Amino acid sequence: MQIQDLAIPEPLRQQYLGLGIRELYPPQAACVERGLLDGKNLLVAIPTASGKTLIAEMAMHRHIANGGKCLYIVPLKALASEKYEEFGNKGVKVGLSTGDLDRRDDALGKNDIIVATSEKVDSLLRNGARWIPDITLVVIDEIHLIDSPDRGPTLEMVIAKMRSKNPGMQLIGLSATIGNPKVLAGWLDAELVTSSWRPVDLRQGVFYDNRIQFAERMRPVKQVSKNYDDLNLCLDTIAEGGQCLVFVSSRRNAEAFAKRAAGAIKSEDAALAACAERLLEGTPTEMVKTLAACVAKGAAFHHAGLSRKERSIVEEAFRKNLLKCISSTPTLAAGLNLPARRVIIRDYLRFSAGEGMQPIPVSEYRQMAGRAGRPRLDPYGEAVLIAKEAEQVPELFEVYIEAEAEDVHSRIAEPTALYTHVLSLVASGFAGTRGELTEFMNRSFYVHEHKQGRLIHRAIDEALQFLITAEMVVEVGEHIGATELGTLVSRMYIDPRSAFAIVTTLREQEKYADLGLIQLICTTPDMPTLYAKNADLPALSRMLEVRGADIWLPPPLDDDAAETYYRAVKTAMLLSDWTDELSEEKICERYGVGPGDVFGMVENINWLLHATSQLARMFVPKFYGQIADCEICMKNGIRRELLPLVRLRGIGRVRARRLFNNGITSPEELSRHKKEDLVKILGSGIAEQVLEQLHPSKDTGKKEPPSGDKNTNPGQS
Ligand code: ADP
Repeated sequence: MQIQDLAIPEPLRQQYLGLGIRELYPPQAACVERGLLDGKNLLVAIPTASGKTLIAEMAMHRHIANGGKCLYIVPLKALASEKYEEFGNKGVKVGLSTGDLDRRDDALGKNDIIVATSEKVDSLLRNGARWIPDITLVVIDEIHLIDSPDRGPTLEMVIAKMRSKNPGMQLIGLSATIGNPKVLAGWLDAELVTSSWRPVDLRQGVFYDNRIQFAERMRPVKQVSKNYDDLNLCLDTIAEGGQCLVFVSSRRNAEAFAKRAAGAIKSEDAALAACAERLLEGTPTEMVKTLAACVAKGAAFHHAGLSRKERSIVEEAFRKNLLKCISSTPTLAAGLNLPARRVIIRDYLRFSAGEGMQPIPVSEYRQMAGRAGRPRLDPYGEAVLIAKEAEQVPELFEVYIEAEAEDVHSRIAEPTALYTHVLSLVASGFAGTRGELTEFMNRSFYVHEHKQGRLIHRAIDEALQFLITAEMVVEVGEHIGATELGTLVSRMYIDPRSAFAIVTTLREQEKYADLGLIQLICTTPDMPTLYAKNADLPALSRMLEVRGADIWLPPPLDDDAAETYYRAVKTAMLLSDWTDELSEEKICERYGVGPGDVFGMVENINWLLHATSQLARMFVPKFYGQIADCEICMKNGIRRELLPLVRLRGIGRVRARRLFNNGITSPEELSRHKKEDLVKILGSGIAEQVLEQLHPSKDTGKKEPPSGDKNTNPGQS
């Protein structure tokens, strides 16, 4: 099917032709035949890299040309930014919505396409964003993640809510290949397009004894290293001009492999040296120093401990073919759009609590294998598993290469998942009686899949019971409604269990303490916590002893609860070190984490602190002021004494501390100093910016209102 013949807007057609796209790939053509451009619902379950984005884009532009508006839902923030950039350079207005979860973001409505994560869409629905009824097309990227235990229920609810609000809209689900696409398509009232077609031939094989066994042939691999098969496989593909991605099970393994590969590749390239230098800007942590040393020689590692900047340097260098090899943890396979000639799936066993080492699911294998082969650049892609014994070779063929993809199932019947969703249905007007609640849930994927809803009805009752006890929902006769507390909790987008623990504990306290508050928040289900090893226990116990007066929650008597407790305490310690102005480098060293982890944890607690301050304002006002200040301290990573200074634009943790240590402790004192003094401390640009805020120049006449929450990026100064 030729681009020339399609019923798509002319500017888009010209863009495609300009990019050299003249003909649709076969699965794309199948979508058009099934009514993609005629408003039909579609479920497209096709392999990675087979052109799903283009499918969505054609439909979106058609809607926009007809005066419609599109919502593109992605699972991860990083993917949202990627799509935002991709759609934005094609002449339509694109908005990105990943920010705070308690906003309505009405201004987003001016865009033609809004890209958002499913959590953000859920929060926009809860907060009543005005433009939601104008949406005529919803695209759900990676819809198979409806099966994910943590994010699946939200995605399922978002789909159900959007369909109930905008019954006439078109819905397109984009999915990896799954075992039961018909069931999912049935729920979505969608036409189904499945295919195993790929733009680059994918050869899948198993390595053993210096050769790769593919389905039809064998390929010898030169043995450069005596001890490391993975390294030999990597060097083999580099020798023929390809690049390599290696998936391993842990961060430590990723780093170890990158070091080994760097030692063997030994690239010498000015562009790589420049990348390494960029990585080393500022005060690099030990991990970043290691990364830079590897990058300089042509290899890198990639995992969630890296900061956004570090990741993007690595990704860019790989796309430019400067880096020859990246070793990565599998969690990144979902988001990482970095094809390579050869993908090595080295570790296919993963530790699972209570079950020991378990093989990864087929879907995950496929996601990794699917990264093999760069369209138009590689003649083919190779995905290689490594066998440890000869008998494993046929086994790996059976378990992964020839296996059917897994089915996807609804995860919504888990009671804890439903607490938050039942509250949101009641608080945002989707259901006003138990009957309406049941009716709504009867339209879920769960009930479609199971043909009955016994389990889900029981879970609804349990959730309602909790919400009534927690005074978030009231039941009067047959009516159920959200209380003021319930409405706020739903709008702030926090788990009702978190809100209940926060409000109850705050009410019990006589004296406020930052550490107590942080500890409390770290025990809620909304806060991911650090792993606490046995070796950490002495330090944690010591801290509990020394800071005992500030600790709000005592250690549990029950041994089973101890692990959760100490994880929360360890996380609280890290965050407390952050507000104590310990450098990022020291924090990473002390807790064995990377800058990306610190950023993630600070970002998460900022959201929860904000929700806590709103809860306190309404329900525990005695602590409101203190909590609001703690929120600003956490955002900036500062002690309370710097609060007056960080209210100025351009002043973050580092500069505020510099001013303070020079005896300047407030904006008033600052304004008494000569410009030359300030230039010495702050540099000329920032000094001018600050002075402009204190003494606005006549020609602008504007005075920026000092704001404490302008700086949300930890480490930024
Ligand atoms: P997926 O989302 O399925 O993983 P993408 O949509 O990112 O895959 O497409 C992978 C690459 O293929 C992109 O670089 C895209 O520009 C290119 N592409 C998509 N459709 C076509 C086509 N019909 N002809 C040529 N290239 C295409």
